[in-house]
Amino acid sequence: MSGAPLSVAAACELLLAEARVTESEPVPLAECLGRVCAEPVRADAPLPGFDNSAMDGYAVRSADLADGATPLRIVGESRAGVPAAVAVGAGEAARISTGAAIPAGADAVVPVEQAREQDGAVVAEAAPVEAGAFVRRAGEDLEAGAVALAAGTRVGAAELGVLAGVGVPAVVCARRPRLVVLTGGDELLAPGEPAAPGQIFDSNRFSLVAMAREAGAEASYGGGMPDTLEQTRAAIEARLDADLLVLCGGVSVGRHDHVKEALAELGVEQLFWRVALRPGAPTWGGVLRRPGARPTLVFGLPGNPVSAQVTFRLFVAPALLATSGHDPEPRRTTAILGEDTRGLPGRDVYLRCRLEPGPDGWHALPTSERQGSHILTSMLGADCLAVIPAGSGELAAGERVEVLPL
Ligand code: AMP
Ligand code: MG
Repeated sequence: MSGAPLSVAAACELLLAEARVTESEPVPLAECLGRVCAEPVRADAPLPGFDNSAMDGYAVRSADLADGATPLRIVGESRAGVPAAVAVGAGEAARISTGAAIPAGADAVVPVEQAREQDGAVVAEAAPVEAGAFVRRAGEDLEAGAVALAAGTRVGAAELGVLAGVGVPAVVCARRPRLVVLTGGDELLAPGEPAAPGQIFDSNRFSLVAMAREAGAEASYGGGMPDTLEQTRAAIEARLDADLLVLCGGVSVGRHDHVKEALAELGVEQLFWRVALRPGAPTWGGVLRRPGARPTLVFGLPGNPVSAQVTFRLFVAPALLATSGHDPEPRRTTAILGEDTRGLPGRDVYLRCRLEPGPDGWHALPTSERQGSHILTSMLGADCLAVIPAGSGELAAGERVEVLPL
């Protein structure tokens, strides 16, 4: 069942083929941040909803000013929220505020800065005035019925602005995928627990749950998996109802690594084990299929903290995005390698890098000389992984490489 290591892309493809988008549910606007639209959101009404003024000034008829400045009699006022009660007729104007409706009859605005008032009339100093000057047209931002947000859009600040702007009270979103993290190993301690010889603090339970939340999951820590087959199996079995189950540690070839065997006993189908990459080679991916129910995607990530975070980013995050109806790999790009490096035969290397702007574009600089998979601090300040493809040999600083944002 082991087989040859797969490429990262091939392993990802197997996982994505099993990902099923969660059910949709209406979500009130105030709770939409970070959620993914399950359906296109349309504007019921045009945005702006009516022709309105871009400036504080006077609403006029441009035809009155075609031949230059003429005093126009002020007949009323249109304020933001309080339209003028009267129409603007020939030879007339109305005072108007920014955002106020253009009164009937008027077709242009003369800004206060370009006008002078005297004896109940206004003179436009910058006449003639073009029809439509300083008028914001109804529907110029969104026509009525237009798609404001496409299905699959993650709602951020800009999206919330648009949704609120078109008066949408709630959005149909994919349910946040439920993701549970279990960490395995008799050496692991919770913060504050006294350390016996050989014990370490469990860092992955925090970093992985955090990464899952950042990627939009309803994520929780589901407990530990002690290093026996029975306890590992029991811990996993209790959490198989998650949409995504992330098991960290115990997935390699050590005598006390029981995760793969426990999963086999529980009927979780292996999609792959071992990927041609560093860090993170022993990564395992699989699925529990249940008739009539949603499948659970199961991940066995290596316990080394950097491997755990890198493989979460490479395999779990895309599957999580796909499960919430989002594009699984939204922002691949390239950057200029900031240091000489060398590739490895037969596996891709993912370097933790910080992006720095240069005159020729973004440069990817390794965050640490120590790129060992146990060097937790090498993740500090890392905002991308630079991909050094298998068999690259020597790569000189200045070469362009693919980068995955973290
Ligand atoms: P494993 O994948 O279980 O073989 O563990 C590989 C290395 O990662 C060992 O040095 C473990 O002590 C360490 N490790 C495993 N799980 C965690 C964890 N949750 N937090 C920090 N280090 C861990
Ligand atoms: Mg272990």
